[in-house]
Amino acid sequence: MLAVRLIVDQASNCLKKRDKYVILILKSNATDDQIDHVLERVEAMGLQHHLSRGTFRTIVGIIGDEEKLRQEPMRAIPGVAKVIPVLPAYKLASRDAHPEASVVDVSGVKIGGGHLGMIAGPCSVEEPERMFRIAEAVCKSGANLFRGGAFKPRTSPYAFQGMGEEGLRLLREVGDKFQIPIVTEVTDPRLVDLVSEYADMLQVGARNMQNFALLTEVGKSTRPVLLKRGMSATINDLLMCAEYILSQGNSNVVLCERGIKSFDTSTRNLFDVAAVPAVQSLSHLPIIVDPSHATGRPDLIPPCALAGLAAGADGVHIEVHDCPEVAKSDGPQALLPEQYDELASQMKSLASLLGKTISPLPETLV
Ligand code: PEP
Ligand code: MN
Repeated sequence: MLAVRLIVDQASNCLKKRDKYVILILKSNATDDQIDHVLERVEAMGLQHHLSRGTFRTIVGIIGDEEKLRQEPMRAIPGVAKVIPVLPAYKLASRDAHPEASVVDVSGVKIGGGHLGMIAGPCSVEEPERMFRIAEAVCKSGANLFRGGAFKPRTSPYAFQGMGEEGLRLLREVGDKFQIPIVTEVTDPRLVDLVSEYADMLQVGARNMQNFALLTEVGKSTRPVLLKRGMSATINDLLMCAEYILSQGNSNVVLCERGIKSFDTSTRNLFDVAAVPAVQSLSHLPIIVDPSHATGRPDLIPPCALAGLAAGADGVHIEVHDCPEVAKSDGPQALLPEQYDELASQMKSLASLLGKTISPLPETLV
């Protein structure tokens, strides 16, 4: 096992390098010829190896430049049973690289490291009076980020697609009036500059989680990013997508658990509350929960919001509308402002019990 210990030690010492570390576990019946062939193949790739012959299994530790060390072909070498990476492929998002929890600052509002982001607002940006009304209500309740989609990624091409730039302008007016940072979705790499002009934080929605061109573009932006988990994405997928953003230089990424697909139709999605501590054990990035999209049911949103906080979430994202029956999108899952107010006071009590703080608005005018 010396080879394994050696390689693990080197791995943790050299996280910043472009080196990669994997362990090959050979089949119990691997022949000497096969073992020699494995070593030759590794050398031919320009990589170093450490061989460890055990009574039952032979193990080969491999170190080398990550461009050369391509795991997949190694699985095809005769005699190889398993290829195990020592470090996750999401180097920058990993806790190994950054043991402390990251704190993301969204125009003065902190998320992560004991600070809770309280995002609230309607699903879509709608008419001005309604936007100001909802914003005033959620600010009074203690929300510290205001949301609303100006560009809506809809399942149907015939559904309301959002107000576009007019919606962005309106969001900015609301943000300026109530001194609350704005988070809104960007659906297309070509829109990143435009949305960044108006918004304090860019949301990448579940349907776009693996839109790599979009991730690359928001990674080049100076705005913090809210990256929502795709509806059939694993935690590894989510962290790899965060890595796309981080690798472009944008370190301000907040993750969001918003429910995943399931066979059960009684809720809109399946709220994966365990994803919160699971992500936190693997990554330093803040993770918030969105019980609105996770459940799709106003009666389930409050208990799931509280469960998310109890599980360690760094914030809660909730859709609020003052007249859900006329909402342009997601009306059936919207909380009324008074329902949000009641939930917000419960979330504040739970936050203080958990020793978490909620960044107040920089200068609230409500
Ligand atoms: C939204 O926030 O309104 C939204 C579309 O969310 P999701 O991408 O999680 O479906
Ligand atoms: Mn919505």
